[in-house]
Amino acid sequence: MRARYAALKGRGLALDLTRGKPSPAQLDLSTGLLDLGADRLGPAGAGADHRNYGGLHGLPELRAIFAEALRVPVGQLLAIGNSSLALMHDTLIHALLFGVPGSVRPWGGERTAVLCPVPGYDRHFALCEKFGIEMIPVPMGDDGPDMDEVERLAAEDPGVRGIWCVPTYSNPTGAVYGEETARRLAAMPTAAPDFRVLWDDAYAVHHLTDEPAAAPDILALCAEHGHPDRAFVYGSTSKITFAGAGVAFFGSSPANVEWLTGHLARRTIGPDKLNQLRHALFLRDAEGLRAHMAEHRALLRPRFDLVERVLRERLGGLGVATWSRPAGGYFVSLDVPDGCARRTVRLAAEAGIRLTPAGATFPYGKDPRDRNIRIAPTYPTLDELGTAMEGLAVCVLLAALERSGQPEGPEG
Ligand code: PMP
Repeated sequence: MRARYAALKGRGLALDLTRGKPSPAQLDLSTGLLDLGADRLGPAGAGADHRNYGGLHGLPELRAIFAEALRVPVGQLLAIGNSSLALMHDTLIHALLFGVPGSVRPWGGERTAVLCPVPGYDRHFALCEKFGIEMIPVPMGDDGPDMDEVERLAAEDPGVRGIWCVPTYSNPTGAVYGEETARRLAAMPTAAPDFRVLWDDAYAVHHLTDEPAAAPDILALCAEHGHPDRAFVYGSTSKITFAGAGVAFFGSSPANVEWLTGHLARRTIGPDKLNQLRHALFLRDAEGLRAHMAEHRALLRPRFDLVERVLRERLGGLGVATWSRPAGGYFVSLDVPDGCARRTVRLAAEAGIRLTPAGATFPYGKDPRDRNIRIAPTYPTLDELGTAMEGLAVCVLLAALERSGQPEGPEG
């Protein structure tokens, strides 16, 4: 293995599997957005003047296209800004400063904790860390977090004010939340009266198979179980059109939408309606959105198949790794033997293969078993991805062999 690793290092690679970015070919699918000119976007073509201030809730035509995918009634769906992460940031800030509907006191000032299914999305954790929100990890399963644990923590601890959820093709495991998980989230008693399910449906339409998953209708379930204000739904077109120049969405109960627009009205006089109009004209309707995502799938599926093939051929049956086989989304979650993730990532980095830092998928960057690695296969070319995955497999094997050859340390 050492000889194989030395040969890998000798190749002088410079490959990057760190972040889930669309590839240039995926971005090219949305070039049509740039072709829409004054004849379509201007007041004569659009039938209204979207060049001016106003329209705080976002363009109804675009909200109508995403209402079905995000399972939010169009009247309760806002289209704002270019980034759902920014909306998560802002809603947390408003909650910390002022509280949310149902709050007895703001989230800030006293101990506030949020449940974090792990492995999870590092930028959710970074937001909490920045704002001093305590993070309590909860194990993630195939259809959502361990709900016995979630129910226990939410019921017992009034400091627990929310839970992060990526319900469709979760980042990084690809898990899809089941109906029963969502029902329990909606129905569970919580010690905090203003508990929020932070439902980040970033991959709602990012299917890789013929059997598209659909996240449960969390808003309807919350209303049905007597907690109509419990869920905040987030989404965006970042991985549908242009990752920096798309549109973000927030959906919730009428009371929560009014709460957010009240804060938003101080922050902005209105969103970029021209970009929203561009998106509405380009995607046309829910069917157009589906057709567009099928084009993404054609580019992405071979990459995920390649990752699966290399992992199976190089690591399968050796007892050194398990990994997710996602039916959508942007990531593959790889578990190596306990204590080997950081070493694997370092070996890969030294061989010119950059991976998301080990631990990033856990709050505070601390993976207690040091075993989880997030693979982001979307950006590199197929050739680069194949080379990177073959190299990664060598690093996993070497790290595992080094570890198994070590005498047991004091911690066992
Ligand atoms: N949520 C999840 C789960 C993500 O994986 C990402 C992108 N990696 C985002 C949100 C970021 O979304 P946006 O570009 O809309 O800020």
